[in-house]
Amino acid sequence: MAEPHRSLWLDQAFTGATPMPELRGGDRADVAIVGGGYLGLWTAILLKERDPAIDVAIVERDVCGGGASGRNGGFVLSWWPKIGTLVKLAGEEGGIELARASEAAIGEIGEFCERHRIDAQFRQGGYLWTAATDVQRGSWAPALDLCASLGVRPFEELSPAEVARRAGSPVHLEGVLEPSGATVHPGYLVRGLMRVARSLGVRIYENSPMVELDRRRPAVVRTPGGALTADRVVLAINAHSAGIRELHRRIVAISSDMVATPPIPDRLEEIGWTGGECISDSQLQVHYYRTTQDGRIAFGKGGWGIALGARMGASFDRDARRAADVTLGFRRLYPNLADVPITHDWSGPIDRSPTGIPLFGNLGGREHILYGAGFSGNGVGPCRLGGRILADLVVGDRSGLAGCALVNGHPGSFPPDPVRWIGAHAVRTGVAAKEAREAEGRAPGRIADALARLAPAGMIPKKAKAKKG
Ligand SMILES: Cc1cc2nc3c(=O)[nH]c(=O)nc-3n(C[C@H](O)[C@H](O)[C@H](O)COP(=O)(O)OP(=O)(O)OC[C@H]3O[C@@H](n4cnc5c(N)ncnc54)[C@H](O)[C@@H]3O)c2cc1C
Repeated sequence: MAEPHRSLWLDQAFTGATPMPELRGGDRADVAIVGGGYLGLWTAILLKERDPAIDVAIVERDVCGGGASGRNGGFVLSWWPKIGTLVKLAGEEGGIELARASEAAIGEIGEFCERHRIDAQFRQGGYLWTAATDVQRGSWAPALDLCASLGVRPFEELSPAEVARRAGSPVHLEGVLEPSGATVHPGYLVRGLMRVARSLGVRIYENSPMVELDRRRPAVVRTPGGALTADRVVLAINAHSAGIRELHRRIVAISSDMVATPPIPDRLEEIGWTGGECISDSQLQVHYYRTTQDGRIAFGKGGWGIALGARMGASFDRDARRAADVTLGFRRLYPNLADVPITHDWSGPIDRSPTGIPLFGNLGGREHILYGAGFSGNGVGPCRLGGRILADLVVGDRSGLAGCALVNGHPGSFPPDPVRWIGAHAVRTGVAAKEAREAEGRAPGRIADALARLAPAGMIPKKAKAKKG
């Protein structure tokens, strides 16, 4: 496989590291995990913490963190903004339990990093959910209203002036703060998890893509150079799940794209964005942005490229046209930083599920093959939860979260390809046209608006974002 274009994060975290060996010949493990991102690594670590005697091996097609885990925005978010969907899936009690668990996972990640000396630059500055156009105003109201009716208050309502002050730009018209939100350096986090997994005895094979999964018992994960036989297999392959026949209708692979500035700590000081908040607007193709420890801004936009099945070409690593569009978003939201250059750009895959919430379960009903996918652009925090769910499922313990509604019970499916690919392109075109007009203060065209309403939920809930002005 040709060396893909790397993110700023992986450039910083991987420099000088020698990849782990490829799988050559035969190996055997109690548990084979396919995918060395956050989900695969958390599953491995939590299994080992549960029972050090379980023999775990990871097979990764690239290097650990080569996928979304080494490319993301580093927002560590709870599921409170998605409380409406959670309640639909799991009922009121179950929904609150899942949202609380997702919030607790944020603190757990910070503590884990501290305990294991992972310098992932964890900073809990809160998540600022904002409106940057008139149409986006009050996008959070349905989530806040539902929380109030459930007797919980995860969000703080801020004055418009406070929102603009914290965001460091008057383009932010209003918003709410979710104080549990944090940021990390995605590359240091994923490579740190890898180090801990190895120290617990997990064997890791890099540059070893699974090319075939023999679903019989024991299962066999075949790579070009070898075969890993295991009693249990966990598929933690994110957007590549769209290429697994049993999951094809549940996952669509789309891109998210990011740019970053050079370190500009003085300018951040000048505009007042010093609290470490991670921020998003309320577009469907959401803009998300945060500062870094060395004073950069990393700025992203979700949902542009769409893959046919799991065929993600080089444009899922980097795409000049989309990078230019993301830069345009940055320029619009931060006119006061118009002279600041862009030094890095990259892209990555998102595993969009029908509801925007991940799904876990037994592949095709097989007890010994498990999967987790569908984080839909919000996986940095939730992968810790997902790892717990999968580790519990591996050992057959359904007393905790593994008994929740996200396991083997997830509703909804996408049409098969190529219908969905064509449909998704139409929806994306509609969304882009609608939001470009709204950013200029113009009303969306009727066709664009109708198409945009067909888009599935993403990083922030659709109902909120699709609200009419
Ligand atoms: C640009 C971008 C920005 C994002 N921003 C945020 C954010 O700010 N906050 C947030 O919460 N989430 C964000 N996300 C989403 C988040 O990164 C993911 O939800 C999370 O990393 C998922 O982890 P994972 O382990 O499931 O997937 P991955 O990290 O993608 O891991 C899956 C691994 O499986 C490997 N693999 C695939 N197929 C095979 C195979 N056949 N054989 C072997 N290995 C295979 C891949 O190479 C990959 O390393 C973003 C994603 C992107 C792309």
